Amino acid sequence: MSTPTLPIADTRQVARAAGRLIAADRRAAAAILLLNVLAAVAALGAPYLLGRIIDAVTGPRAAARIDLLAGAVLLCALAQTLLARWALLLGYRFGERTAARIRIGFLSRALSLPASVIERVPPGDLAARGTTDVDAIAGTLRDVLPGAFVAGIHLVFLLAAVLVLDPLLGLSGLLGLFGIVITGRWYLRRARNAYLEEGAANSELAEELAATAAGARTIEAFRLHRSRLAVGRAAIARTRRSRLATLRLRSVYFPVAEGSYNIPVVLVLLIGGLLYRGDRITLGTVVAAALYLRQLIGPMDTILIWLEQLQSSSASFARVEGLAAVPAAPATATAAPGSDRIEVKGVRYAYPGGPDVLHDVDLTVQPGERLAIVGLSGAGKSTLGRLLAGVDRPHTGAVTVGGVAVAELPPDLLRRQVVLVTQEHHVFRETVRDNLMVPASDDRLAEALRTVGADWARDLDTDLGEHPLTGAQAQQLALARVLLADPHTVILDEATALLDPRAARVAERALAAVLHNRTVIAIAHRLQTAHDADRIAVMDAGRIIELGTHDDLITHGGPYAKLWRQWHG
Ligand code: ADP
Repeated sequence: MSTPTLPIADTRQVARAAGRLIAADRRAAAAILLLNVLAAVAALGAPYLLGRIIDAVTGPRAAARIDLLAGAVLLCALAQTLLARWALLLGYRFGERTAARIRIGFLSRALSLPASVIERVPPGDLAARGTTDVDAIAGTLRDVLPGAFVAGIHLVFLLAAVLVLDPLLGLSGLLGLFGIVITGRWYLRRARNAYLEEGAANSELAEELAATAAGARTIEAFRLHRSRLAVGRAAIARTRRSRLATLRLRSVYFPVAEGSYNIPVVLVLLIGGLLYRGDRITLGTVVAAALYLRQLIGPMDTILIWLEQLQSSSASFARVEGLAAVPAAPATATAAPGSDRIEVKGVRYAYPGGPDVLHDVDLTVQPGERLAIVGLSGAGKSTLGRLLAGVDRPHTGAVTVGGVAVAELPPDLLRRQVVLVTQEHHVFRETVRDNLMVPASDDRLAEALRTVGADWARDLDTDLGEHPLTGAQAQQLALARVLLADPHTVILDEATALLDPRAARVAERALAAVLHNRTVIAIAHRLQTAHDADRIAVMDAGRIIELGTHDDLITHGGPYAKLWRQWHG
């Protein structure tokens, strides 16, 4: 089972991120707050005035006073409606803008994750965070937050109004709210983890489904249907369990909370009745207090219903923000390399959680040299290639080009120094031009494609999503990218190993054109490549055990000479 290695932001980080988002749009946020406060004040008018109407019934000149008060009720209601709608409109816009900010932020963070992290995290997790989670946040910002905000402010003002109206009645009303507060706390304490688990289960399901789809041929070939089904079922079961857990929480929370709504009203009517009989307050005040507390139901319902969505989307937000906690690629070098010389000094390297796979490797590659690295599978050749290309950085020692650490070079500078060519070439579902990824004139792009023999790519606007490439064509595209990046050093790792012999021959020709006038470090699978190189480094168990020209090594009669003899039968 894949272990999720992408972090999740804690509540403090989430709060800080939310603060940043509000600050980014602070004028809109302030306007929304002001309009909501005004709307809440207007909403307090009607119950108060209704209370006064009841008191006026028994007073002098009742009809005229009641007309006046009723007119005022109407005005308050109108003002509240207009202000609340305006606030909501601004809220929706704010929500959409903020959702866009979150999306853009996520994308740019995902794109700037160090390659070594991207390669190791489960792709499903990253995808689920970028889609399901970001969508959940956007939905909440659009549909929930503006309304919940209106309700929250309304709630505060209603409570304040009851307290001002009559402190004793207000306090008894507040007391009656306790039940809701307790259930709310009970729910909130459990909900975050439950929703985080639900998110993780969704990620895992996405991950397993993607893995099954991607490995369809292997599954066919090895008849792995049953085991993939079992894995899928387990992931579905986990999703179901986590979903049931959150449903269970809600099935307790909602009924209890809704039952508690009436308690404050009942308390106020009871105590208000007693006070009225003792002539301590007017009937109008009791009615106004009861109306205020009845009015609480609206905003409280809104908050209750949305609290769960707020919870689940705050868990989503924690997952999206978690990306920020991935240590960025460490500080980039500011100095440009002083020469094209590559040096490896005292390098040790281990994959995360594993033992050292490179031990004290030293190597100097002179500009223009052709170096072949040979050795048995698992000797550490590809790992050394990755370090030379700056994909990973050594734990001890240094890999430098012209005196600057390769892994610290910013991407555009690195591209002009060293490029690693492997058998994995990604072709984006975009045009040929976009796939070449280097801003250059069409003439230069066309020339690069011609040099690598990519005659099929005459039209730079061909959409490669609609016209998929063969392995050999993808290889040519990758080589054209190298030509355009124009590095002084190219590292080849199994660059043509997966192609069929005919395609490989085409690719070799293209390769020769690309390698012309560059330093080449080739991880060699066929000893012929080694034979043609200027020097050969023989690796074994993470060390360079021999280094020299073909003739030297043959004369020396060491491991390389043995390999050569074996190869020649
Ligand atoms: P070679 O290219 O010579 O076949 P590698 O550099 O691929 O050797 O591997 C060297 C060692 O590092 C091996 O023991 C291999 O199992 C280990 N290794 C390679 N890639 C990874 C990885 N992504 N995570 C953990 N260990 C790895």
